[in-house]
Amino acid sequence: MQPTRSLSISRRSLLRAQAVFGITLLGSTVAPSSAHAANSTRIHQRAAWQARSPKGAVRRSYGRPKRLIIHHTATANTADMSLARAYSLGRAIQNHHMDSFGWIDTGQHFTVSRGAYVLEGRAGSLASLESASGMVIGAHCYGQNTLAIGIETEGTYTHNAPPAAQYEALVELCARLCRQYRLAASEIYGHRDFNATLCPGAALYALLPQLRSDVDSRLGDGELPTESRIADADVTEEVWEDLETFMPALEFVRR
Ligand SMILES: [Zn+2]
Repeated sequence: MQPTRSLSISRRSLLRAQAVFGITLLGSTVAPSSAHAANSTRIHQRAAWQARSPKGAVRRSYGRPKRLIIHHTATANTADMSLARAYSLGRAIQNHHMDSFGWIDTGQHFTVSRGAYVLEGRAGSLASLESASGMVIGAHCYGQNTLAIGIETEGTYTHNAPPAAQYEALVELCARLCRQYRLAASEIYGHRDFNATLCPGAALYALLPQLRSDVDSRLGDGELPTESRIADADVTEEVWEDLETFMPALEFVRR
């Protein structure tokens, strides 16, 4: 089922719709597991976490992404660092996005669990990354879905920072994305830079300068531009198309 495209709504009313309240994604618990040797360079494919098939065609943007946007999931800061928990999280977010929001698939491109496991999100995200040939259009940040890779960081980081291993996995993932898409580390943002939202939480948001610095260090010298060379050309119309297609993405500003 495709999201409705018949919506007619003004930018002003969209902005007015940006209320702030919490979302609870998870109602289930996962048995603790001893298997939590995280491999931060590995991205677990959708099949591994038993993702559902998208309900409609996932669209592609053939330009490279311009930036990365960091989110938190606004879920519990679980002490369960297992791979099973990460997979359960992937399914829970996808179910929430598809069943509660009516989206065609999970909205984000990648998820980093508290146990430092990295999951592929929306269908096609990993293949696009590996080929460095564009991106699938996500649903994670109003106005940025055709331009930005969305990364969900498991937890609620309003007061507490992510665990060290999770932060390290985030650094590695961002570095891989920047390397593949030839993005400068300065192109890493938080959701709140674009929408009226608390996401990714004040504590994680405060870490973004450090994240950019750490990613920049991983990228090394010489290969990357100091500024993104991705042009703004031919994205304006797509942004408006995106606005109508992914109206439910407004839900994300409520976090
Ligand atoms: Zn967010």
